[in-house]
Amino acid sequence: MKILIVEDEKGLAEALGEILKREGYSVDLAFDGKSGLEKVLTGRYDCMILDIMLPLMNGLDVLSYIRVKEMDIPVLLLTAKSEVEDKINGLDCGADDYLTKPFETGELLARIRAISRRLNSSPDINPKFGDITLELKKCELICGGNTVVLGRKEFRMMELLISNTGHIVTKETFVNEIWESGDESAYNNVEVYISFLRKKLQLIHSGVQIKTRRGIGYCLEGS
Ligand code: CA
Repeated sequence: MKILIVEDEKGLAEALGEILKREGYSVDLAFDGKSGLEKVLTGRYDCMILDIMLPLMNGLDVLSYIRVKEMDIPVLLLTAKSEVEDKINGLDCGADDYLTKPFETGELLARIRAISRRLNSSPDINPKFGDITLELKKCELICGGNTVVLGRKEFRMMELLISNTGHIVTKETFVNEIWESGDESAYNNVEVYISFLRKKLQLIHSGVQIKTRRGIGYCLEGS
C-alpha cells in the first residue's frame, strides 16, 4: 500500500513516514497543499494522510478538489484543531477519518489499517470468534442481538485477540501496538482494559472468555 503524507511540519511528516515504512507501507511526502495535490492526482497512491492547515492550498481545498475529480482515494485528515466545525467541514469535503494532533502512533496505525481493510474489503470482513463479531466500522462488539460499543483501546485489544485466535497475545504486544510507551503504567493499563473487555463480554451474554496465561498474556476461549 502506497501512502502520501501531506504535512508542512517537516519533522512530523518525516517521523510519520518512518513509522509507516517500518510497518511495511511505501510512503511519499509533500510539504504543501499544492504539491500534495499534484502528487495525489497522479493516482499512484492508495491512501492520503492530509493536514488541514497547509501553505499554498489548505487541506480541505485539496480534499474538495480531488472529490470533485471523483477520486475515491481514502483520506485521513490531520488537524491541530479539535473543533467540531472542522470535523464537520472535513466530512462534508469527503474525508474518511480524522486524527487530532497530537495523536498516538498506535492510533494512527489503527486508522490506516482500518482504511486498508476497507480498501480490500468484501462486504463482511468483520472479525468473528465463537459467538462474537467485531463490527469494524462502528467499533461495536456483537453477540446475537446484543451490542456494546468499545472504546478505541478496547477495540484494538479485541481485534488483536481475535486475529490471534489460538495464540497467546502477550502484554508486550498490547503495549507496543496500543500504548507506545512501555512503562509500568502501560502494563497495568493492559490489565485494566482486559477487565473492561471481560465486563463487556458478559454484558452481551457472550460465551467467549479472555483467559489469562499468567506471566505471558491473554487468549480467547470460545463457546
Ligand atoms: Ca500544518
